[in-house]
Amino acid sequence: MSATKYIFVTGGVASSLGKGIISSTLGKLLQARGFNITIQKFDPYINIDPGTLNPYEHGECYVTDDGKETDLDLGHYERFTGIRTTAYSNYTTGRIYQSVIDKERRGDYLGKTIQVIPHITDEIKRSMLFQGKRTHFDFVITEIGGTVGDIESQPFLEAIRQLKWELGKDALCVHLTYVPYLSAAGELKTKPTQHSVKELQSLGIQPDILVLRTEHELSSSLRRKVANFCNVAPTAVFQSKDQPTIYEVPLRMQEQGLDAEILRQFGMPIGETPGLGPWRSFLERRHKATEEVKIALVGKYDLQDAYKSILESLSQAGTYNDRKVRTCFVNSEKLTPENIGSALEGIDGIIICPGFGQRGTEGKIVAAQFAREHDIPTFGICLGMQMMVIEFARHVLGYEDANSVEMNPSTKHNVIDLMESQKNVTNMGGTMRLGGYPCRLSEGSKVREIYAQEEIRERHRHRYEFNSEYLSAYEKAGMRCTGINPDTGLVEIVEIPTLQWYIGTQFHPEYSSTVLKPHPLFLSFIAAAITYKASQQ
Ligand code: GLN
Repeated sequence: MSATKYIFVTGGVASSLGKGIISSTLGKLLQARGFNITIQKFDPYINIDPGTLNPYEHGECYVTDDGKETDLDLGHYERFTGIRTTAYSNYTTGRIYQSVIDKERRGDYLGKTIQVIPHITDEIKRSMLFQGKRTHFDFVITEIGGTVGDIESQPFLEAIRQLKWELGKDALCVHLTYVPYLSAAGELKTKPTQHSVKELQSLGIQPDILVLRTEHELSSSLRRKVANFCNVAPTAVFQSKDQPTIYEVPLRMQEQGLDAEILRQFGMPIGETPGLGPWRSFLERRHKATEEVKIALVGKYDLQDAYKSILESLSQAGTYNDRKVRTCFVNSEKLTPENIGSALEGIDGIIICPGFGQRGTEGKIVAAQFAREHDIPTFGICLGMQMMVIEFARHVLGYEDANSVEMNPSTKHNVIDLMESQKNVTNMGGTMRLGGYPCRLSEGSKVREIYAQEEIRERHRHRYEFNSEYLSAYEKAGMRCTGINPDTGLVEIVEIPTLQWYIGTQFHPEYSSTVLKPHPLFLSFIAAAITYKASQQ
């Protein structure tokens, strides 16, 4: 077994250049060559994890199967490569400091003064190497959040500098920068890239490979110029031009030989270029799918990144149904019984989104009622499922004040209730029901047919649960609880079998849909939306 190779991915000039996509692409291309890979992310902010962050800050919080709340880039890693990330795949400055401070309190440092260098940087290095020590990986790809030059990313870069030195030929740095086009001058400008590389060099890191983000084609002379000014081999400058979808990026990078250059620099045999057959078929199907299916996302965050995994799951499911999914955001804070009809005009399916807190929940209930009464395919996820349950209690079971105790702690009909184990929780961070739990599907239910499996495992992120005291009332009135946790008896899925597609899941299926393994619930939901669309024409 050869030594694990470490690839560090840093970014310069601006954020949002797509480091997560480049890291996922590297993983995908190396994996296609038969290597065992993993991808991890180090974020310079101080929160212990993104679990307590508002989605407006860093977008959705992604949850690993082993129950860690993480950065949304881990979603890309999983969707591109099919790997399963873990609690050790995402560290923040806060988490690193917490671990160092815990050690200090235990007396592990034997009276030493604790400092950023070496204690924090040693902890970062230990964490960067941890996964590769626990399991054998051929490649560990480490993405560093933020932009080179930020004060808070310096300890991470210092850790990389030291690791590059210690690991020698087994480590390299891929630096992603931006080449802007100045339309007034009609020119592409490489100066920001040169400065960003200088910044890295001043921290003692010489990038080995440069990936230049650009909206326009970069000529080979421009790339040679960058190579020249940045001490990088001419074969090691790549362009990452805007693509119609992020899923094109692996093909564009492979065409330019990014993976081959990495192998060359590691001194490994290059071998044949993998065909990426299934990936290409996915993209071909995606290009051919021109007919649209329109899905409303009823939620409170008018921000793409807040529902990232749901959007990706829908678009993957669209491709496999030979359709292009057009999503439109419907702000649940503004929904009323009066405007719901026009808000959902021309919609073929509805997602009632996850969320926290009271804001926008009444609008979600309005949407659930409209969808149920008009038999529009509807998928409620987590809070969305809870709103379907509340709506049914209010308008079918006749419990007018039915609610979740999250929204109204004194409701008489607490159809969504706080779990016993959550009642004494005072710390908000990392204390929800998190990660994968088993769920048994009822014989004869729609979900059983969709999954074609009796037992499934899905990821959770919530504090409140369906109150099982009401289970038989629901069942009698026609909302069936068709997914139950076999260990705890908690209700995981509700459905109304008399409707075309009206399913709510307490878990988050969107976290586990990948490009090559789209999620069965999303596939089936889109298929139902297509049928509904046809019935409306
Ligand atoms: N706020 C709800 C709960 O905590 C739902 C959470 C979610 O949608 N992820 O139970």
